[in-house]
Amino acid sequence: MSHESAPNATATPLLGQSPAELAEWVTQQGQPAYRGKQLHNWIYDKGARSLDDITVFPKKWREQMRSAGVGEIGRSTIVKRAVARDDTVKYLLQMADGQIVETVGIPTEKRLTVCVSSQVGCPMACDFCATGKGGFTRNLAAHEIIDQVLTVQEDFERRVSHIVFMGMGEPLLNTENVVAAVRSLNQDVGIGQRNITISTVGLPGYIRRLGNLQLQATLAVSLHASNQPLRERLIPSAAQYPIGELFEECRDYVKQTGRRISFEYLLLAELNDWPEHADELAQQLRGFQSHVNLIPYNPIVEVDYKRPDSQRVSGFKRALEDQHIAVSVRYSRGLDVDAACGQLRSSELQRLAETTAL
Ligand code: SAH
Repeated sequence: MSHESAPNATATPLLGQSPAELAEWVTQQGQPAYRGKQLHNWIYDKGARSLDDITVFPKKWREQMRSAGVGEIGRSTIVKRAVARDDTVKYLLQMADGQIVETVGIPTEKRLTVCVSSQVGCPMACDFCATGKGGFTRNLAAHEIIDQVLTVQEDFERRVSHIVFMGMGEPLLNTENVVAAVRSLNQDVGIGQRNITISTVGLPGYIRRLGNLQLQATLAVSLHASNQPLRERLIPSAAQYPIGELFEECRDYVKQTGRRISFEYLLLAELNDWPEHADELAQQLRGFQSHVNLIPYNPIVEVDYKRPDSQRVSGFKRALEDQHIAVSVRYSRGLDVDAACGQLRSSELQRLAETTAL
C-alpha cells in the first residue's frame, strides 16, 4: 500500500484484526491497551456492529470516533433471508459499497455449517453454475468473509462449527484474503481449521502455492470429469490446465501438507455419469489419499443438463467403491430457496443491489 493512504485510519475495518492489532489500534486512538481485549470480545463474541454498540467504552470517546469517521467494524446488512423447508437459510448480504453476496447457513443436529462466498460473482464461467452466468465484480475482503460467518452465527444463536468456501466465487483467485479470513476465523472466532474447507476449480500453480502456506484446512477440488475433453467442455478454464497437471499439483499438495484432498464430482445425467467414467476416475485416483464427493446436479435455468436419478447416482457410487475409492454423495440442502450448490447467482443480486435504496 502506498504511503499516502496511511493517515486514513478508517481504511482497514476492525473485523479481522487480532487481539494484538486491536490493542495497538486502541492505543493509537488514545485508549489504554486493555481495551483492545474488550474490543475483540465485543466484535467477535457480542456482535458489535459499530463502536457505538460497545457500552463499556467511554461515551465521549465513542462520539469522537463517530464524528471523525474512525473505527468502522465492517459488518454487512441482511437485505433478504429465505428459509428452506429443510431449515437451511439463505442470506443476501449487502457490503459497505452496496454490492451483495449470498451466504447459506446449513444446520444439522450436531453441526452448523456456513457456505461462504469469496468473491462478488465469479470469472470462471463454468457452464453448469448460476454464479458464473453473471460475471465477476470483485474480490471480497477478509472482513467481508468473516462477517458472513458471524451473521449466520448470530442469526441461528448457535456456534458455527464448519465452514465451506462453496458460495459465490473462486477462492484461490482471492487467496490472500481467503487465507487471512481462515486464520482469523480460526484464531478470533474459534473455528478449527480442520472444519474449514476451501473448494477450488483449480488454476495452474495455485494449489501448490496454497500448499506452501501449510494451512490445516481441507482442500476440495472441483473435478467433475474423468478426462480432459469432458472437463474442458464443462469448465472453460480447464483448457489452460491439463488434468494431468492438476493431479500432479494435488499429489504435491498431499505431500506438502499431509492432508488428503476431497474431489468433487458433479453428476450430470447421461453425460459424465456412465460406468466408464467411474472406471476412468478410479484409475486416476488409484493410490491417491483422497475422498470423492458426488454432487447430483442442481438445475439452473440457463442450461439443460439433467439431474441423474438416485439409481444412477448409487450405481456410480458403487462402481467407485468396488475399486476401493472412498466416496460419499452430497445431496445439497436448500434447493427450494435456490440455496443449493451452484444456484447462487450474481446477476439477480446485481439487479437487487441496483433497486435497493442505500
Ligand atoms: N469456485 C469453487 C467454489 C464453487 S461452488 C469451485 O469451483 O470449487 C462449490 C461447488 O458447487 C463446486 O464443486 C461447483 O462446481 C458446484 N456446482 C456448481 N454448479 C452446480 C450445480 N448446478 N449443481 C451442483 N453443484 C454445482
